[in-house]
Amino acid sequence: MSVSEHLKQYGVATERELEQFDSFAKLLVETNKKFNLTALTDDKDAALLHFYDSLSVRQALPCRDGLTLIDVGCGAGFPSMPLAITMPDCQFTMMDSTAKKLTFISESAAALELSNVKTLVGRAEEFSTKKEYRESFDVGLARGVARLNILAELVLPFVKVGGSFVAMKGRGALEEVEEAKNGIAVLGGKLETVIPVAIPETDRVHNLVVIKKIAPTPPQYPRQFGRISKKPL
Ligand code: SAH
Repeated sequence: MSVSEHLKQYGVATERELEQFDSFAKLLVETNKKFNLTALTDDKDAALLHFYDSLSVRQALPCRDGLTLIDVGCGAGFPSMPLAITMPDCQFTMMDSTAKKLTFISESAAALELSNVKTLVGRAEEFSTKKEYRESFDVGLARGVARLNILAELVLPFVKVGGSFVAMKGRGALEEVEEAKNGIAVLGGKLETVIPVAIPETDRVHNLVVIKKIAPTPPQYPRQFGRISKKPL
């Protein structure tokens, strides 16, 4: 069964979007033979743990066209590629420090004729100090990059005041929120809600941690990565 056949019953995308998911999944499997992009390539696992999981983020997003989103540490494009396919009126910036992953993303975006995808190769903590990127996105997203107390310093500086940061977390989300509380406040964030997401056909429950940006991030943040990870705020 293809990715689209696994997803069809859940009504998460249109026929055309499902076809694009299949094309993207095929490119992922092919490219994965040349270099390691993801551990999950089985169609069912990819459908549920990559595509369904990524699409769940939509319930945490404001409902309007023209949103600008940045996916920090996007890897092979999760959650941002499935979202870009289903949200053509929103602009996605996919950032990762590994160039080969972003080459895969730009080639895939071209193959799928997506005009709402930009790529940025480099480290989050370096880009977010640049005027062009600082506090310039409506939404910051991240999955599988770091614990929340570290991740907040990597993502919140990109988010406009009034925008939001959606961190995709697993079972330990509430502990991570507790641990990151101080840092979130220092960086100008405020916890809005935690939305549990049950992944069908598995016993997994993921959590969308939604943090509102309520004040500018002080200019001394982010620090260098060594400091961020050794001494989280
Ligand atoms: N979001 C993807 C990939 C997770 S793996 C998914 O869920 O499938 C974590 C990714 O974050 C890796 O590709 C790594 O290169 C990237 N990364 C880690 N720290 C980073 C940083 N400081 N800036 C940019 N990318 C980073």
